[in-house]
Amino acid sequence: MTDWNALSDEAFRKDVREFFAANYPHELRFLPRRLRWAECRDWYLTLSRKGWIAPGWPKEHGGMGLSPAKQLVMLEETERLGIGRMPDQGITQVGQTIMRYGTEAQQKKYLPPIIAGEHVWCQGYSEPNSGSDLASLRTTAVRDGDDWVINGSKIWTSMSMDATHMYVLVRTDPNAPKKQEGISFMLLDMNAPGITLRPIRNIAGHEEFAQVFFDNVRTSADSLVGELNKGWTIAKTLLGFERLGIGSPRRPRYAFARLEKVARSRGLLEDPAFADRYAQLRLDLADLAALYERYVDQVRRGEALGPDVSILKIWSMELYQRTSELLLEAADEKAALDGMVDFDDESVDVLAPFYMARPGTIYGGSNEIQRNIVAKDVLRMPQK
Ligand SMILES: Cc1cc2nc3c(=O)[nH]c(=O)nc-3n(C[C@H](O)[C@H](O)[C@H](O)COP(=O)(O)OP(=O)(O)OC[C@H]3O[C@@H](n4cnc5c(N)ncnc54)[C@H](O)[C@@H]3O)c2cc1C
Repeated sequence: MTDWNALSDEAFRKDVREFFAANYPHELRFLPRRLRWAECRDWYLTLSRKGWIAPGWPKEHGGMGLSPAKQLVMLEETERLGIGRMPDQGITQVGQTIMRYGTEAQQKKYLPPIIAGEHVWCQGYSEPNSGSDLASLRTTAVRDGDDWVINGSKIWTSMSMDATHMYVLVRTDPNAPKKQEGISFMLLDMNAPGITLRPIRNIAGHEEFAQVFFDNVRTSADSLVGELNKGWTIAKTLLGFERLGIGSPRRPRYAFARLEKVARSRGLLEDPAFADRYAQLRLDLADLAALYERYVDQVRRGEALGPDVSILKIWSMELYQRTSELLLEAADEKAALDGMVDFDDESVDVLAPFYMARPGTIYGGSNEIQRNIVAKDVLRMPQK
């Protein structure tokens, strides 16, 4: 097995660039939406066969065990080629959680199919009346013989239409004195009888999430991850991973690359007022990349992420929105055009980053909630 960490960054970048260019389908480059499983399955399997599907996972679980610097190289090459985001929650979220909290049997059962592309995961946290106040969730799991029986509903479940499995937060003790104490973290098969889905269309016209209904859905007793009624702690750890993923410079950089093309093509960098705003975003992006690298390093050292990772999420998504807004301004009268828009020698999707940046301050815990976390748990500001 190749030790990718032993290569120089330049040699590794060359390998990654060549492999991506030779294998990633041309028609899936720079799509203004997430990839559906049916269209990216072959690409997922190609990466899997190469041993590259889980750059951050340790080698013993089928990952690359890649250093943070080289993970950034992969990320940069992914962006450069316009490779879309796959349904990747198995790799980026639940896999890490099973490694940390799951039993050996759960690790054996669930980790290899993620690497092999046999299981596609979605996240069942939010409910119609429990979003920011997630701990108020009401979907229940009641023990019946060797099974748990689940009833209730989850909403905004990204890519659930493509998922084979869901990791879900359920109420297992309705009488717990604190609402956080009666919640458990479970795994379930999306093909189990009693699950129905209602896809939801977003403002850009794409169906990327759904409401999921559970009517006496059974999952086996060994689907419980960690201790009974201690799922809140696991959920918080997993949200830390999610905030790290959302905090990656990838999306703001995507928007900035488009801003740069439009600004150059329209000669806007000659305008000092515009150049000032452009330079500010460029510097903010450099700050974000540096901060992100620090957190990735922390994860690689096996350290838990603290509440301060919320700062990364806030900064990344607000920068994404600010950049996509300046892109629209720069595009001027062409800003309202959907799809690829021509600017002299460049063709740029100006509206897509704007649409994609809008929900960024909501998902993964809204930015207002992240600010509350920073105020309370990082700055220890007095609470009313
Ligand atoms: C694109 C997208 C994908 C998503 N994917 C998933 C997924 O895969 N799985 C999943 O479980 N969920 C998912 N979500 C749901 C997401 O986590 C929730 O939307 C989010 O937590 C906010 O909850 P809510 O929508 O119920 O809004 P609410 O909680 O009703 O909040 C409404 C507004 O009030 C503000 N607010 C609420 N409480 C406070 C407070 N205490 N202080 C200050 N301001 C407050 C919020 O910031 C927000 O602006 C997704 C959401 C989006 C937009």
